Amino acid sequence: MNKQEIRKRIEKLKELINYHRYLYHVKDKQEISDSALDSLKKELFDLEQENPEFMTKDSPTQRIGGEAQKEFKKIKHQERMLSFNDAFSKEDMQSWQDRFSKLLTEKEKQKIDFYCELKIDGLAIELIYENGFLKTGSTRGDGAIGEDITQNLKTIQAIPLNIKDKKNLTIRGEAFISKKEFENINKLQLQRGLPLYANPRNIVAGSVRQLDPKVTSERRLDSYAYDLILPAHRSLGEGWGQKTHEDKHKILENLGFKTNKNNKYCKNLEEVFHFHNYWQKNRVSLGYEIDGIVVLVNNNEIFEKLGVIGKAPRAGIAFKFPLIQATTEVEDIKVQVGRTGAITPVAVLKPVNISGATITRATLHNEDEIKRLGIKIGDSVIVGRAGDVIPDIIRVLTELRTGKEKSFKMPEICPACGTKLQKPARNVSRSDAGGSETGIILFCPNAKCFARTRRNFYHFVSKSAFDIEGLGPKIINRLLDEALVSDPSDIFSLKEGDLEGLERFGEKSAENLIKSIKERSEITLSKFIYALGIRNVGEETAIDLAKIFKSIENLRNVKLQDLENVLNIGPVVAKSIVEWFSDKDNIKFLNKLEKAVKIKKQEANGRKEILKGLSFVLTGALESMSRDIAREKIRELGGDVSESVSNKTSFVVAGAEAGSKLSKAEKLGVKIVSEEEFLKMLK
Ligand SMILES: [Zn+2]
Repeated sequence: MNKQEIRKRIEKLKELINYHRYLYHVKDKQEISDSALDSLKKELFDLEQENPEFMTKDSPTQRIGGEAQKEFKKIKHQERMLSFNDAFSKEDMQSWQDRFSKLLTEKEKQKIDFYCELKIDGLAIELIYENGFLKTGSTRGDGAIGEDITQNLKTIQAIPLNIKDKKNLTIRGEAFISKKEFENINKLQLQRGLPLYANPRNIVAGSVRQLDPKVTSERRLDSYAYDLILPAHRSLGEGWGQKTHEDKHKILENLGFKTNKNNKYCKNLEEVFHFHNYWQKNRVSLGYEIDGIVVLVNNNEIFEKLGVIGKAPRAGIAFKFPLIQATTEVEDIKVQVGRTGAITPVAVLKPVNISGATITRATLHNEDEIKRLGIKIGDSVIVGRAGDVIPDIIRVLTELRTGKEKSFKMPEICPACGTKLQKPARNVSRSDAGGSETGIILFCPNAKCFARTRRNFYHFVSKSAFDIEGLGPKIINRLLDEALVSDPSDIFSLKEGDLEGLERFGEKSAENLIKSIKERSEITLSKFIYALGIRNVGEETAIDLAKIFKSIENLRNVKLQDLENVLNIGPVVAKSIVEWFSDKDNIKFLNKLEKAVKIKKQEANGRKEILKGLSFVLTGALESMSRDIAREKIRELGGDVSESVSNKTSFVVAGAEAGSKLSKAEKLGVKIVSEEEFLKMLK
């Protein structure tokens, strides 16, 4: 995007976010999920960070919560009640630390450590104590002015009405509701024929803002305190000597406030990640809902020094748990031919993190689904995943269109073989897509077409080619069925999140497979050539070609007559090679593959090529090593290996139960060596 496009994108994002906030806070309606809205806000925040010249005071990133309702008395906060910016990944956290570190001295940087709190899905409150007595309690409101909900907060048992120490002080904390109470209240709503609450936070907001405190007391709310502000907190000496945020929590506890025992001191970001990870996995064990952790710079002096930017303190951030929905862009729509010939349109997405894993593709199922969504190439979309299925496009954000989006039309012929596509006589139900939608699925009737696709994949990952562990035919079939890959080079752009939705595919196995794919993304030239699947080019020919041509560039530009002159390559093979490299689709595939993988420098291992110029044929079983290994050893030492005996053969290595090759060698007068003799030659 150029600056002009960025400015427009920012404006459109602001408009869209404001619209959904208005729906949510004023109209009590929700059209898109919290996750999707968070995701949009994150994009806006990132764009504003990178382009501060476009940041305006009215941006949704600069404001807090809802405005005070008219029915309640208003309370002006002595100090603004801030909220936090969101982070969703380790990278976000690292760039947060980088951002604030720039404002610190070297000495201060050495002192950076953190205090982490569970981020409860509740309502932020402020309590003011005068001479030890609770005087007022309020909501955050717009940060400057909140609502006076003193009477309602007094019904919460966890909030002390007076404290031992007769100081004047301000406490901040969270009012929330347990999961159990949430269920009870919804049960009651159901009995009374009233609408159900969507989440615990809604109940808390609804409860503490009841004009009748009796209703509030019926609902058993709970509260944790998490911050302590002295009225004259500019002079810390008036306090209890707190130097860190952790100290504040200890003091709060001593004063009789309920504090969360799960909160934790963390020495560095590494420990913060550990804490985050732990609670992401164990949040279900808690009696209340959390949606992430709050991370604060522990040292109070540094915290103050870093100050406030917009609506948030620089020294604090909400490190949220992964979103189950997120917004991203459709970079392309592709059509893929499945293992059974089914044609599936697939949205290629700008990589986005959902439930902790990056995804790059979402299935569009069929033409009807494309029509239903009204999706175009270049659109911004909400992607989500319900349970453990392949991610779906939930909604197109047409509000964010620029006019450059391109419509997509399903092809009439098979993109792989050019055969005219057919519609089956009956509608196909796709219950595996997480719903029970039906739609017409086109298919390619040419059995050779999809059989060939499949075979190309099997060949590509086989032992003598890319040799990808754990990527067998079954998984390849699933990948093709789900249209996650269309040609073998797509394997290298798969992300864990793309795989996790596959049947029988857990987080762990997805991680392992991605790891082994990555390990194999470096390959020797000979294996690379073999993997291309050129007709008549077997393992041996591929090795010869690699030796002679040294690079794929040289090979792809070779002329037929040059190839025919090369030793060991006959006219048939030469023709296959030249034909392969003159096919447009093959070249497209080759270019893609070259970008996805790295070709290793041909292994020069420093050993002398003592077998140079010698040609071997192996026959029978060797005792000390497999034939594969023997072949590799010969090649390492500069020798050649071929399958059949000819008068060019230097030696036939005879293992146990050697067969017809031995008699042919005898006939041609080729020297036969035993395994023992062969081993000596290798030394
Ligand atoms: Zn086809």
